[in-house]
Amino acid sequence: MTRPDAHGALREELTRLHLELPRNGLVTWTSGNISARVPEGLLIKPSGVTFEDLTPDGMVLTDADAQVLHPGLSPSSDTATHAYIYRHLPDVGGIVHTHSPYATAWAANAREIPCFLTAMADEFGGPVPCGGFALIGGEEIGAEVVRVLRGHRSPAIILQNHGVFTIGPTARAALKAAVMVEDVARTAYLATQLGSPVPLAQADIDRLHHRYTHVYGQRPASPDSSAPAAPVAPASTSLQGEQHA
Ligand SMILES: [Zn+2]
Repeated sequence: MTRPDAHGALREELTRLHLELPRNGLVTWTSGNISARVPEGLLIKPSGVTFEDLTPDGMVLTDADAQVLHPGLSPSSDTATHAYIYRHLPDVGGIVHTHSPYATAWAANAREIPCFLTAMADEFGGPVPCGGFALIGGEEIGAEVVRVLRGHRSPAIILQNHGVFTIGPTARAALKAAVMVEDVARTAYLATQLGSPVPLAQADIDRLHHRYTHVYGQRPASPDSSAPAAPVAPASTSLQGEQHA
């Protein structure tokens, strides 16, 4: 099959990234999806296809209003939500949606995930917010995601009675946030079972978040450095602050 567009490398990356959803325990059966912004609109998982059956050519290209641009598989039923987010948050280059169990358990209680952990302050800059209930299919979910996340430090939102949306400059960055939100949701849940977890002070959250987003991680070596330069990942795969050691 001839590729219907010039997004071959991105189609392959999206296929690989989707395999990380079941690998990290974030999805069941065909639920969950990842998209990436492209000049025409977006590329997204086809609807109802299991993760091991996904192929690069099966990723669905739509315009900015979620209308399919080439004949083929139908796009994810969440495509209108993704399109709405891209139209309203111009810095977003990738979006992930899951019903990952611990984060969604907080959503079922309509509770934000409190900021009990330094890793949460690093990654989310505070609690992970919980948006209101919105029905699936139209633009209501996208509107709620945009309402809460516009100008917010958190790249993740949990939606009441539903699940998780994460955003990032790339699909890979959004996937990292989806993995991290489930991890902190699990730890926060366990902490609440043990007793009364201690929230971090706002001033400490601010300091941790600033350090993580401005100082932490590998920096490119200076040109005159005598030390061997660390390999610099391409921008599309660079995860700022990925290493936690
Ligand atoms: Zn969903």
